[in-house]
Amino acid sequence: MRTKPPTSARTSMNVALELGFRRCAQDLRGLLLTTPLGWLLVAWICWDRVPVEQMGLWLGGFAISWTIALLLLTLLLRLPAPQRRRHGWMLHVAAALDGMAWAAMVPLLLPDQGADALLPWLIVVLCGGAAMTAPIYASYIRAHFAYLVGLFGVLLGHTLWRFQDLQHLSITLGLTLFLVLLSWHMRRVGHSAEEAMRLQLKNTAKNERLAGLLRMARRDAETDALTGLANRRLLDSTLTNRWQVGGRNDRRERPLSVLMLDLDHFKRVNDTHGHDVGDQILKAFAVRTSEQLRKPDLFARYGGEEFTVLLPGTDAARALLIAERIRAAIADMPLLAEPAVPLTVSIGVAQRTPNESTESLLARADAALYAAKQGGRNRVTLAE
Ligand code: GH3
Ligand code: MG
Ligand code: MG
Repeated sequence: MRTKPPTSARTSMNVALELGFRRCAQDLRGLLLTTPLGWLLVAWICWDRVPVEQMGLWLGGFAISWTIALLLLTLLLRLPAPQRRRHGWMLHVAAALDGMAWAAMVPLLLPDQGADALLPWLIVVLCGGAAMTAPIYASYIRAHFAYLVGLFGVLLGHTLWRFQDLQHLSITLGLTLFLVLLSWHMRRVGHSAEEAMRLQLKNTAKNERLAGLLRMARRDAETDALTGLANRRLLDSTLTNRWQVGGRNDRRERPLSVLMLDLDHFKRVNDTHGHDVGDQILKAFAVRTSEQLRKPDLFARYGGEEFTVLLPGTDAARALLIAERIRAAIADMPLLAEPAVPLTVSIGVAQRTPNESTESLLARADAALYAAKQGGRNRVTLAE
């Protein structure tokens, strides 16, 4: 017993079918635009051998069905993608009209007598045309069946009509054999094309999923899990890549200030209220401090209850104001409603001096933080 493919496989098969359908309609329209060259070839072959009225009838009929087929395909391709497959009949009718118009050569252009010189040429045109058209249908094999129905419809109709005419009967039989072999071969090609398209879609979906996972992994690698702030790794790479003297993106002409922040007596908070409350306070501290910063500022958790802020384009005077704003925002109101633990923060401020390395800048900010602690905590100190 055959089992149904899983839903995701069925979906990708549907998408593959939709893509194949669109490609087939586009290719057929492209091929139809070259059809007038085929008319010229046939006219040249039949010149002086077929009565002009017969030629006119065939060309006129073909031109009408050709115009209808082109219009149908153009309308179909203009439809929004979800509606296109529902109007599949347009592609089928266009393919059938094409098959009918070419097959009409047999009843209209083959004279009853004296066809010997003409016959091989017309057979070559008919078979060559069918072989040229076949690959177009590889991406959507159902349209090929419509083409064959159109073609056979005319041939069989004509054969029944001229039942006693052995020459026409043998032409129909020969063409039938050729087209049966061609369509049998096309079925396999069509399946391979559909499978290839399905695999291509699957790979594209897989690549998109992997790119998403990579983005998430990269973000995780640069984010502190507790507070969601930048972590030490992102802080270091930002300093190295953007601000390091001689670094990839050395911006030594722009001022850069650094704040080093450390929560005061945080050990006591943990000891009194527990580690979980300590964690909640660290998160709330991250949120409240972020509210005091601008978009280009980088706020990172340096480690434990120590944090760092990079203030690009900011000199020491402005950095001191920002640090003071942060200090006041923390000291003015407890970070949690329950338990409402009063908390303060000490901040060291340093502005980068010309050609100063990032290590030296951070060390000076850290020394300023130490001085703030020594000075009694809950204060801002500027580095030497
Ligand atoms: P000081 O004012 O001198 O900075 O005193 P302090 O108690 O804050 O300093 P110390 O460095 O001795 O203690 C820091 C405390 O921060 C110790 C540690 O348990 C706590 N801590 C560090 N990381 C975390 C964390 O992720 N969660 C919690 N709840 N506590 C943390
Ligand atoms: Mg501390
Ligand atoms: Mg500390």
